[in-house]
Amino acid sequence: MPARVVVLGGGVGGTLVANLLSKRLRRDVRVTVVDPTGMHAYQPGYQYLALGQANGRWLVRDERTLLRTDVDLVVEPAIRVHPDAGTVQLARGGSLDWDYLVIATGARLAPELVPGLTEGSYEFYSLEGAQRLREALRRFRGGRLLVGVAGIPYKCPPAPVEFVFLVEEYLRRRGIRNRSEVRLLSPLNRAFTIESASKVVQPLMAQRGIELTTFFNVESVDPSSGVVSSLEGEKAEFDLLVLVPPHRGQDVVVESRLGDASGWLPTDRTTLQVEGHERIFAIGDATNLPISKSGSTAHFEAPVVASRIAALVKGSAPRSNYGGNVMCFLETGNRQGTVLRFDYEHPPAPPQPSAIWHSAKWLFNRMYWGVVPQGRLPERMPIPVPRGRSTE
Ligand SMILES: Cc1cc2nc3c(=O)[nH]c(=O)nc-3n(C[C@H](O)[C@H](O)[C@H](O)COP(=O)(O)OP(=O)(O)OC[C@H]3O[C@@H](n4cnc5c(N)ncnc54)[C@H](O)[C@@H]3O)c2cc1C
Repeated sequence: MPARVVVLGGGVGGTLVANLLSKRLRRDVRVTVVDPTGMHAYQPGYQYLALGQANGRWLVRDERTLLRTDVDLVVEPAIRVHPDAGTVQLARGGSLDWDYLVIATGARLAPELVPGLTEGSYEFYSLEGAQRLREALRRFRGGRLLVGVAGIPYKCPPAPVEFVFLVEEYLRRRGIRNRSEVRLLSPLNRAFTIESASKVVQPLMAQRGIELTTFFNVESVDPSSGVVSSLEGEKAEFDLLVLVPPHRGQDVVVESRLGDASGWLPTDRTTLQVEGHERIFAIGDATNLPISKSGSTAHFEAPVVASRIAALVKGSAPRSNYGGNVMCFLETGNRQGTVLRFDYEHPPAPPQPSAIWHSAKWLFNRMYWGVVPQGRLPERMPIPVPRGRSTE
């Protein structure tokens, strides 16, 4: 009898792991993907949508068209995992049995955690949010435009920095930059989590007149007076506020009592097993791993999980380990960008922004649908080590 693998979530990680497993194990496996919408979104495109540079059709595809034909797709939410029974309960009353379970349910946006955030701010972290922001930007005639994050961790740490560069350029193109203040509110002592990249982007922000306010941990938003307040006791006035909402793990993780206090799955950093559960694996944004929540992370984790499950099904010892590989492009506006490549051992050493990395990001944006879900890109990425530093 083939091994039964259930994959929760048909996003970047879930789709890739399902396809890789079916390709590797063929008749020895029965893979089922469970997803509430049956639609797969290319989330990095949301910021281009908000800026009027992309449309929703480009960003969303039917999940069925991305899965190999021998992978089953169930379109409904999973509501509870029963690890001891080896089952997962589905929203419409059914359940699925599994020998191995992969949880790739991503992150949930939790705007309700910050008073006033839903009514008083815009975001580009969901399709609907990006569409609303696009309309708000069209109506914007100049004023105080603030961009910030309302909680850590959040997916794609460079995205708010990219957005602030791109929106500054957008205002210039519309001829309203001189009437606008553009400011990034960061909860940290720098532009964003990754120190070496902050050192590259901060001088560029200063050159473009983009202000940076550090140690601004958003506490609440007052939509009527147009003021955002921080836990540190500061207040910032805005005409247009763009805030990345707080992120949490999905309800299914919480209901299954598998997650930590924020709903992230305690995950082994190399085997990607959920701690205490040999047959349950976690990938992508759903884990508690202290690395970027990004599509690239999910992309490099999926082959490790596929390889480990394939070995277990064949009765051999799993040998593939995740080394923390991540690779993300970072747009810096004016058709330039840089790249962040790192792993557990090597922090990123981003090159000075250039047209090459902007073009590489756009090439990747175009290629995504035809290469990533199918596993046509390399399963690992070498990390360039700056001269003078040893790889040992
Ligand atoms: C604006 C923006 C820009 C970004 N830019 C980049 C970038 O440049 N590079 C990069 O690498 N990453 C980027 N990311 C991050 C990237 O999109 C995510 O990190 C990536 O999608 C995570 O993959 P995942 O498989 O873990 O989760 P997702 O792709 O989010 O998929 C999770 C899936 O789980 C499903 N699900 C949810 N609940 C349930 C349930 N109860 N049962 C079953 N299924 C469920 C969801 O419907 C979804 O399909 C960006 C994100 C945003 C928002």
